[in-house]
Amino acid sequence: MTDCIIVGGGLIGMLSARELKKKGLNVLILEKGEMGKEASWAGGGILSPLHPWQYPDEVNQLASIGHQQYENVAETLYVESGVDPEYVRSGMMVLGCEQRSQVIDWSKKWSMNLSIINDATEMQAILPGLHEEFKQGYWMPDIAQMRNPKLVKAVKGSLNALGVPYKENAEVRRLNVVNGRVSGVEVDGKTLHADKVLIAGGAWSGEILKEFEHAPEIKPVKGQMILFKGNPDLLKTIILSENRYLIPRRDGRILCGSSIEHSGFSKATSQSMKEDLLESAISIFPALADLQIEHHWAGLRPGSPQGVPYIGSHHEIEGLYINAGHYRNGVILGLGSAFRIADIMIA
Ligand SMILES: Cc1cc2nc3c(=O)[nH]c(=O)nc-3n(C[C@H](O)[C@H](O)[C@H](O)COP(=O)(O)OP(=O)(O)OC[C@H]3O[C@@H](n4cnc5c(N)ncnc54)[C@H](O)[C@@H]3O)c2cc1C
Repeated sequence: MTDCIIVGGGLIGMLSARELKKKGLNVLILEKGEMGKEASWAGGGILSPLHPWQYPDEVNQLASIGHQQYENVAETLYVESGVDPEYVRSGMMVLGCEQRSQVIDWSKKWSMNLSIINDATEMQAILPGLHEEFKQGYWMPDIAQMRNPKLVKAVKGSLNALGVPYKENAEVRRLNVVNGRVSGVEVDGKTLHADKVLIAGGAWSGEILKEFEHAPEIKPVKGQMILFKGNPDLLKTIILSENRYLIPRRDGRILCGSSIEHSGFSKATSQSMKEDLLESAISIFPALADLQIEHHWAGLRPGSPQGVPYIGSHHEIEGLYINAGHYRNGVILGLGSAFRIADIMIA
């Protein structure tokens, strides 16, 4: 018997399933495509919000759980699945020195190790090859990353190991609600019963819930990325310059992201954005001009007001829960969100 149906097999749905299973619930994930192949596959895997001092406390609280626990969780996922999610503490340099007092207050409040770099020599010592125009920045040596496609594969493998069932190519078309209580979902013309339903449909979550009152304000926000084929010695550190970042992977590949586009559910990529990303990448780290672009893709972030996810029960429908709307930060916030929704659903 299924206690809980989870709609959406992205990182958020999968991590929630893992926690609910550990708490003794029989869960079933329904995924309209392939597990972990949407935003959770497409993202950069930086284990920090970009400019975290600009986010409300709710976001930083969830991020703090990720900072403290992801390293161990990554190790456990590796053991359970045999897939290494490539947790690397590469550090992150945020170029520029804006909002200095806000940044210092943030680092103290959340006990984050942060140094202010004011000098070109010090900057080049941390980041050899950085464009010489950049002389100032916030250096956060403890920020880590994971490699998204491997992370989702590892979580899926962990679900297999824990015996959590899922169905792919299973699009939930309707939620069944009787007398203000959820009783299951419609999928492939069939009704599946469960007393609890968790919506973890990423950018589609607002659509799934739109026929009900108090639908969450979740909208797709497209992000395009490019991937350079580099070598492991070229760049070691994540660099953030305004809204553009470079992420060096363990094997030397370097990602550059990302655009912010409000264009519905289309994942189309464009030549103009590819060129824009390339130009940004070279302006930050000139040696990238010599590398081949191996891949260019787009994903749909689940955009929400202020980037604060909806985690909890639906205001009116009993048995219906939501864990969605993580916008640009679903990897770093995902672990804390999964712990929280599991606590709420079991209470
Ligand atoms: C370009 C880009 C860069 C990013 N970089 C970072 C980063 O560096 N760090 C970070 O923390 N976050 C980052 N993010 C954000 C992060 O990837 C997302 O917040 C997170 O992946 C959201 O996970 P999710 O499971 O909610 O959504 P998704 O991964 O999109 O999963 C939702 C799933 O629900 C399924 N679904 C939808 N509707 C239905 C239905 N009716 N029935 C069944 N299944 C359904 C979908 O097919 C999908 O698989 C980035 C995102 C993008 C796009």
